[in-house]
Amino acid sequence: MNAPAQHPPAVRTTCPYCGVGCGVLAKPDGRGGAVIAGDPDHPANFGKLCSKGSALGETLGLATRLLHPMQRQADGTLQRVSWDRALDAVAQGFLRTVERHGPDAVAFYLSGQLLTEDYYVANKLMKGFIGSGNVDTNSRLCMASSVAGHRRAFGSDTVPGCYEDLDEADLIVLVGSNAAWCHPVLYQRMMANKRARGAKLVVIDPRRTATAEEADLFLSIAPGTDSALFCGLLVHLAETLSLDYEYLDGHTSGFVEALAQARQVAPDIIATAASTGLSPAEVGRFFSLFRATPKAVTCFSQGVNQAAEGTDKVTAIVNCHLATGRIGKPGAGPFSLTGQPNAMGGREVGGLANQLAAHMAFTPANVDRVGRFWRAPAMAQRDGLKAVDMFEAIARGEIKALWVMATNPAVSLPRAGAVRAALRKLDLFVLSENVAANDTANAGAHLLLPAAAWGEKDGTVTNSERRISRQRPFLPAAGEARPDWWIVTQVARRMGFGAGFSYRSAADIFREHAALSGFENDGRRDFDIGPLARLSDDAFNALDPVQWPLRAGRARGERRLFGAGGFFTPDGRARMVAVTPPAPQTPAPDYPFRLNTGRVRDHWHTMTRSGLSPRLGHHMAEPFVEIHPDDAAACGLAHGGFARLRTPHGACVLKVMVSAGQQRGALFAPIHWSRDTASSSGIGDLVHAATDPVSGQPDLKGTPAAVAPVSYAFRGFVLARERLSLPEESWWARVALDGGTGWLLASNEGPAAWRAWAAERFAGLELAEYSDAPRGLYRAAAFADGRLAGCLFVGPAETAPQWDAVKALFEREALGEGQRRAVLSGKSADGLADPGPVICACFGVGLNVIRAAIASGAAVSVEQIGAALRAGTNCGSCLPELKRIVAHEGAAQTA
Ligand code: SF4
Repeated sequence: MNAPAQHPPAVRTTCPYCGVGCGVLAKPDGRGGAVIAGDPDHPANFGKLCSKGSALGETLGLATRLLHPMQRQADGTLQRVSWDRALDAVAQGFLRTVERHGPDAVAFYLSGQLLTEDYYVANKLMKGFIGSGNVDTNSRLCMASSVAGHRRAFGSDTVPGCYEDLDEADLIVLVGSNAAWCHPVLYQRMMANKRARGAKLVVIDPRRTATAEEADLFLSIAPGTDSALFCGLLVHLAETLSLDYEYLDGHTSGFVEALAQARQVAPDIIATAASTGLSPAEVGRFFSLFRATPKAVTCFSQGVNQAAEGTDKVTAIVNCHLATGRIGKPGAGPFSLTGQPNAMGGREVGGLANQLAAHMAFTPANVDRVGRFWRAPAMAQRDGLKAVDMFEAIARGEIKALWVMATNPAVSLPRAGAVRAALRKLDLFVLSENVAANDTANAGAHLLLPAAAWGEKDGTVTNSERRISRQRPFLPAAGEARPDWWIVTQVARRMGFGAGFSYRSAADIFREHAALSGFENDGRRDFDIGPLARLSDDAFNALDPVQWPLRAGRARGERRLFGAGGFFTPDGRARMVAVTPPAPQTPAPDYPFRLNTGRVRDHWHTMTRSGLSPRLGHHMAEPFVEIHPDDAAACGLAHGGFARLRTPHGACVLKVMVSAGQQRGALFAPIHWSRDTASSSGIGDLVHAATDPVSGQPDLKGTPAAVAPVSYAFRGFVLARERLSLPEESWWARVALDGGTGWLLASNEGPAAWRAWAAERFAGLELAEYSDAPRGLYRAAAFADGRLAGCLFVGPAETAPQWDAVKALFEREALGEGQRRAVLSGKSADGLADPGPVICACFGVGLNVIRAAIASGAAVSVEQIGAALRAGTNCGSCLPELKRIVAHEGAAQTA
């Protein structure tokens, strides 16, 4: 009798995408992948996952992985080298640079994707042993303004509230946050509160996003004027005697000055409306709701942080909560929604250039304390360079050696073209990465070090509500990939710092990190996980999600801070700070628009992970620019056409999406596509390098821009098993498919040129062709082993061929004769209609299928669509879109 098959148990780990920090159960499938489910016991998500988290199993392949250390040769090629040789080269390169040019000639640029243990050792090496503060992170792009706002108000970078506040609030205000797409599981939690308890939702955003679909009040605020709105609110609360005077007297300072300045900025509702572009009625309604609702949470995200006045926006929000005592109480508080999975862990270790370690700033006492704890020979004495400044120092030749870990600054930083040029000037450019090629690696990295990826890594992350969770490995490391902490430790040892970097495991590092947080603390610093320094290896491995603060002195088990004061300022009082009035926006004649950048629902950062998932690729398959209908008409742009988006820093060509949700004078473009995934789309290249004066966070929401139509005579698509290079002059966007890759394309080259291209690309395969030169049509299908191996469809732009039916055939293991004949027709071999763009990623339900269900009367509500098609019944990320489609189609039918 055969022994029963051994099924490995599911491993409890944490999602690697956003700062919600959802618990994940990953069950290895024995084929190098894993079956993914939400962890019902994790308090961040209670089993739910969004579309990105649900599709994690599709991102585990090795096809794009960096598997071995690589070193660039004199001829520019990369050659595989041993770990010993690579690590020696890194260590000697940094030592040589420090010796010749001093410690500030080197820098590390880290990432919110790193685990806390990775972050900790990198920060320790630079700030304690090399002797420079030049460690910054891509969290600078994400939430540095929240950090700055917290620190100047609370004396510490503390998020006062917790996710349960979103369950208990009677009013949830979302400012600059498309939570429905960017923090979907939390957004669904807010919706559950709305349904169960009748909580009100106010959404404040220049752009009407999916998040606004459920809002009781949507305020389409003028860009950059959030601080004026919250100054107006502070004045209104004071005028209506709605302040918590006991809290103000007992726990704050600076109220009089903050209020006086707020009166200058927005003295009344009329003035607030004038400053913010809202109507007095809208402003009055918001103010009344806030005034009348003690249990109010104000959540804010990138729309607040990524601004030249981001810190003041945070301050203006925090001031209103301090003045009403609505902080650190159930259902009440300001709440920063973190972008990245471990931005909070990075902040905890000191991953930002203006933090030292363990939430300590660069004061002489802290430098001395940390130096003694680390037994560090060369403590940095002052802040290092923040991200934008760091890359400008590289461009000037002041920083000569750089180590980038787990991030893609050649795509994501402002003026990314200048960043790529700066990277090429480095004497030593080291990149620790999961993927073999991306725009940063291609910008001349001298050494590529293969880092372990999600599923292989072992350590901890901290989510938006201060909850530390384990990321646990469930797959063996790919090739020669190693954990980032191991790589840093090996380099440190080779630099002569072995005694300070003798770790054997992530658990060793975590214990030291926890011990530092508690070292000479005695309740004086917010971040103190000292009790966790005593965890055994087994206890670390078994660690359940744990939220700080932990100590009895700060109310053991208390999930919130500051409800009864106790701020980390010298006098224990929160500081209310007067905010600077928002600068008036005057469009430049050559650049009349304001470019806002952000994310889409199913992609993450520069798509090196999410771009591997076929499920995630079809919600929004192409890079686009969104524009108001009136602006589109004035500029000669049509929905579905193309536009050249131009700023003083660069230009690219994007699909046009006309949307009444966009304000006039504003443009929106997503950040995700790079030169690796589209021919012309690097939004980072276009963004200006203006930064917030306090936080140093780049203003990614307000670059002056211009837009003009671009026309292509032909459109089409390519499907192939291998990655192909499309002709230089064509416009394309690449999408992952089951078993291959797809490219949506546009071109001015006609069928003859494409026919020649297909003949070359599909040489050696059985080729079926259809050509109708007078009508501008060419189609080719290449077959091998009974399968569709590749195809090309090109036709006139106005009747562009649709790819859904062909894609379905391409994704089949084998084709029957009828299916094979159907390929070149572009129609479904099974008589099925084109499903259209994917709306529900979990069940692959397309827009046309949903429309058909509504039109036939089979399903006319979101609930009925869920019952009939399953759309929206898993993660819920598409529910706002479903609601909008139902409303739109219903209106169309009754019109
Ligand atoms: S909300 Fe989605 S992306 Fe964010 S942690 Fe949860 S599953 Fe991951």
